Amino acid sequence: MEATEKDILRGGQFLVKETNCEDVFTPEDFSEEQNMMKEAVMEFNDREIIPNKNRFEAKDYALTEECMRKAGELGFLGVAVPEAYGGLGMGFVSTVLTCDYISSGTGSFSTAFGAHTGIGTMPITLYGTEEQKQKYVPKLATGEWFGSYCLTEPGAGSDANSGKTTAELSADGKTYKINGQKMWISNAGFCRLMIVFARIEDDKNITGFIVEYDPENPNGITLGEEEHKLGIHASSTRQVFFNDTVVPVENMLAGRGEGFKIAMNALNVGRIKLAAACLDSQRRITTTAVEYANERKQFKTRISDFGAIKKKLAEMSASAYAGESATYRASKNIEDRIALREAAGNSHQEAELKGVEEYAIECSILKVAVSEDVQNCADEGIQIFGGMGFSKETPMEAAWRDARIARIYEGTNEINRMLSVGMLVKKAMKGHVDLLGPAQAVQEELMGIPSFETPDYSELFSEEKEMIKKLKKTFLMVAGGAVQKFGPDLEGHQQLLVAAADILIEIYMAESAILRTEKNAKRFGEKEQSVQIAMAKLYLYNAVNIVEDKGKESIISFAEGDEQRMMLMGLKRFTKYQNYPDIVDLRNEIAEKVKAENKYCF
Ligand SMILES: Cc1cc2nc3c(=O)[nH]c(=O)nc-3n(C[C@H](O)[C@H](O)[C@H](O)COP(=O)(O)OP(=O)(O)OC[C@H]3O[C@@H](n4cnc5c(N)ncnc54)[C@H](O)[C@@H]3O)c2cc1C
Repeated sequence: MEATEKDILRGGQFLVKETNCEDVFTPEDFSEEQNMMKEAVMEFNDREIIPNKNRFEAKDYALTEECMRKAGELGFLGVAVPEAYGGLGMGFVSTVLTCDYISSGTGSFSTAFGAHTGIGTMPITLYGTEEQKQKYVPKLATGEWFGSYCLTEPGAGSDANSGKTTAELSADGKTYKINGQKMWISNAGFCRLMIVFARIEDDKNITGFIVEYDPENPNGITLGEEEHKLGIHASSTRQVFFNDTVVPVENMLAGRGEGFKIAMNALNVGRIKLAAACLDSQRRITTTAVEYANERKQFKTRISDFGAIKKKLAEMSASAYAGESATYRASKNIEDRIALREAAGNSHQEAELKGVEEYAIECSILKVAVSEDVQNCADEGIQIFGGMGFSKETPMEAAWRDARIARIYEGTNEINRMLSVGMLVKKAMKGHVDLLGPAQAVQEELMGIPSFETPDYSELFSEEKEMIKKLKKTFLMVAGGAVQKFGPDLEGHQQLLVAAADILIEIYMAESAILRTEKNAKRFGEKEQSVQIAMAKLYLYNAVNIVEDKGKESIISFAEGDEQRMMLMGLKRFTKYQNYPDIVDLRNEIAEKVKAENKYCF
């Protein structure tokens, strides 16, 4: 069904508008084509990646390159690339799905894949001229060439626009000469093309360039040694040095000084793909953990029968489920927004750019939430394996190390937390999301007398959906109060921003899990969805606790006296269930299901 402007929420609007479950896309809505792609990627992983895990761990970079080439032959590198440039031209959901299912093999391959298809290729498909796209994209889409993205420098990490690499125009105006040093460059060891950011003269903003790299004719480019990293061992990560590297002027991307914009937008896409690229990893960690827990006996009992282990299996499953729910919900919003813009006459390029930009808040939310979920999941996976979890002989150890990077690259989680709230406030200022009206309504509600009626919560998720509404009110109360108090200085109150971001994140993730399950319960029946219902309820219960904690911390930090008391009372009201779910029962139900299936099975 074609989505219309009315059906699709704008980015960030989830906070102030109610979403019907019928309007969210779920993994259960994958088309036949998407399911075929999923199967193909899983088969590739099972055949090429997973049996070679030890070689990846032993830093076999050549194997990473060989597998990338095979992925290219199968079309996986060109899923997002329009057919006109040698790709498959599939939609945004399919792109995300590919990143998802490629992720369970090893973080090394998943990083190489993501760096190439995302930040290594997207800047050209999104910002390139027709000539640039014709010349480079088909090579990248097929895997004839691999791409890398050179933004970070020794002195310019999170502050990416502060790089010192320079680009100097030649006297005849035909070329730029690039000089500088980049570090932490994924795929540097085997790439043929680099997206390089450099500053021209004293420009405020950096500029992007497409730089070819031929090791036979290096054009002033030298590589540092491979970095010795905690995880993703066979992902090539090297420094790149540019010494009078000559680049034709026609290889400038977008315009002079446009590089920072390119870098940030490429990262928006990168962030949602990175979230996806933690999902199958999380599913597989859960499966591996339950397989072990079902086998391992202590005190003459399978450890999976112990309540303490069941709790872990349930929480691991519920967080993976919420991650899937939110990632595919946002992916389809982006896909629909792209389609709408194309229908309105935008080129595919422009539509894609604006479509992703629209949901930059959700992309940041997902990046933070799912990268932390996969890490927690791997950590609990190690715990379930006990001493064996600490051994290199079992898969948990590498999974934990590999997961760690996701919290650092594509913008650290601190930066993404602050971005998510910062972007939302900006959208409100521009009138794209009406936060002011709802925030004022919450203030009035706080002053009013609470209702003492006992609502009828007999319908599935009626109380949970009411709870989500109340969590949204909590965010509006906290963020509204903070904006009122600090105005533009809010930026300097980072601990407050981070706490507000945590509230925002929990709302989006919990709501997505509930909407997905509600939609599925309506079409497949509540009985069939009983474990999914338990997962959505469990996730929400945990979210409520986080919101309560972060809300309290925030209110105490900026409100005093009567205002503080009123807000704390509001918080209590907004985080109170009428009927508390028995989360021990919920966890047991979830754990028994994954134990019986011996895998993550949702
Ligand atoms: C394995 C790996 C692969 C990578 N691949 C690439 C790649 O292909 N291309 C590329 O260009 N880069 C790449 N990076 C670089 C990565 O994007 C950066 O490491 C990341 O952006 C953080 O920058 P930094 O390391 O300089 O840390 P810093 O920016 O120095 O941050 C250090 C700490 O300070 C915090 N911090 C920084 N600024 C603020 C602030 N304003 N407020 C609050 N806290 C702040 C950070 O959150 C972090 O916790 C890669 C890094 C690694 C480790």
